Amino acid sequence: MEPPSGAENRYDAAVIGSGISGLAAAVFLAKAGKKVAVFEQAPITGGLLQSFSRNGAIFDTGAHYIGAMEPGQSLWKYFNYLDVADSFDLERLDPSGYDLYKFPDYDFRIPSGYDGLTEALISACHDDNPRVIREIINKIKDFCRLAHLDNPDSDFIRANLPFAGKSSLQALREWGATPVLCRNLLANSPLYGVSPTRCPFYIFALTLDGYTAGAWRFAGGSGKLAAALTDSLQRRGGEIYTKTRVDKIFSENRTASGIGLTNGKKIRSDFIISTAHPKTLCGLSIKGFSDSYKERITNLEDTPGVFSLYLQLNPSIMTANYNTHLYMEHDSSSIYDADRTEPSYIFYSISAGNNGNTLLQAMSFMPMQVVMPWEHTASGKRGEDYLKMKQQWEEKIISCIEKHVPGLKKAILHKNSATPLTFRDYTGSWNGSAYGIAKTIEQEGPRGIYHRSRIKNLLFAGQSAFMPGLYGSVISAVIAAGEILGLADLVNRINMES
Ligand SMILES: Cc1cc2nc3c(=O)[nH]c(=O)nc-3n(C[C@H](O)[C@H](O)[C@H](O)COP(=O)(O)OP(=O)(O)OC[C@H]3O[C@@H](n4cnc5c(N)ncnc54)[C@H](O)[C@@H]3O)c2cc1C
Repeated sequence: MEPPSGAENRYDAAVIGSGISGLAAAVFLAKAGKKVAVFEQAPITGGLLQSFSRNGAIFDTGAHYIGAMEPGQSLWKYFNYLDVADSFDLERLDPSGYDLYKFPDYDFRIPSGYDGLTEALISACHDDNPRVIREIINKIKDFCRLAHLDNPDSDFIRANLPFAGKSSLQALREWGATPVLCRNLLANSPLYGVSPTRCPFYIFALTLDGYTAGAWRFAGGSGKLAAALTDSLQRRGGEIYTKTRVDKIFSENRTASGIGLTNGKKIRSDFIISTAHPKTLCGLSIKGFSDSYKERITNLEDTPGVFSLYLQLNPSIMTANYNTHLYMEHDSSSIYDADRTEPSYIFYSISAGNNGNTLLQAMSFMPMQVVMPWEHTASGKRGEDYLKMKQQWEEKIISCIEKHVPGLKKAILHKNSATPLTFRDYTGSWNGSAYGIAKTIEQEGPRGIYHRSRIKNLLFAGQSAFMPGLYGSVISAVIAAGEILGLADLVNRINMES
């Protein structure tokens, strides 16, 4: 469907992008009676929430597992308000160990629940004083309680003040954590793509807290969540236009006034919420952004890209209701080095497929320089050398996993893989970056990207605007929609409905 022209094409808010943040922001606004439209360049909605099918099996693009989905918990509250909490299937990961960290010299299985987490750390970290471990876990818990937006006493800034400028590693060390305790707690850093030496404390803590509340994987694909959000928006009169790329932002007196589409149409809107990568936004024709502001954003560091591997396996391979994080290094601080050309960390999960086969989904960070030679090529036309490079990465990853999953190679029925270029071309991620702008301590404060831009009423949302992950992206949507509706009022309504 084409966006309307003439007097009808005026909106209270135009949303750029239909990933989880764009769809969530649009539903928040539509529920409050605002006239809202989402503009998505891809043929289908969902962004990184999209699922895809290969040889009859459904795989996810960018959603392996989520936390806090028990009724009353944080993410559930937002999904409940968005009217989608019951619209997709989840499989709970083992509460006694939802993630297995496999370091070269030992394993650590991390459980849900703060009590279980504390006990698991006490038994794994022999050199640590149990009292210190208890104190550290309590501090993380207290921080998160205050930092969560849905807590009636929430005050993210106050909670975060003592840690401003401190990395997650520095905060833990100052509290007396030994290297082993730091290693176990900070092994979740691949979920946000920044080394613990540079990651702000709150990103680490909120990510840990989410899964400590419980961990679930999507059964049948995260695409169902995208479809449910799309449906929820349309039922409330919100409009969605796919295959519709935004290429201009209009403003008058430094206040947003509308967007332009590549088909030449102009859409008038009082507010614009952009969930595109901020560098993508800066690449559009924008009246109102100075060259220095654009340059500042364009020079920000991004998270690395990922190589994803999707295997269909003979059902003889056992499924596991936990994820494995395979470390070739002793901790997670060096796996992000941009000059790495070999996998130094692999995430994988083995689950039951929709078609009776076993599915293995794996990912590893892949620096952009590995795929640079093909950066100007299009998907499906990148040539033999590219296919060879992909095959080499597939084989390396499969060989690493096979050491822990005997018989893996022989059980492979079908295999597919994706590089940062695939992500760039199918999900619109800037340069193939997995999680957008890197949330580092250097890129916080005045250098950071938050919900307000230099143009009044042009708002940022999405993983670069708050923090990576589905939870962080939903929060970014609450904050952006809250700027229009009143944040306290919106959060209050979300809490009232749960
Ligand atoms: C491999 C991988 C695995 C992940 N696993 C997990 C996980 O297990 N759990 C978890 O919580 N998170 C996970 N994440 C992170 C999570 O997927 C993201 O943080 C989240 O989905 C980002 O949502 P978003 O709305 O910010 O952006 P996106 O989903 O990227 O949506 C942005 C949308 O904007 C559109 N767009 C861009 N420019 C324009 C334009 N000019 N005009 C129109 N449309 C435009 C794009 O096409 C895209 O659809 C993973 C990410 C990756 C890459």
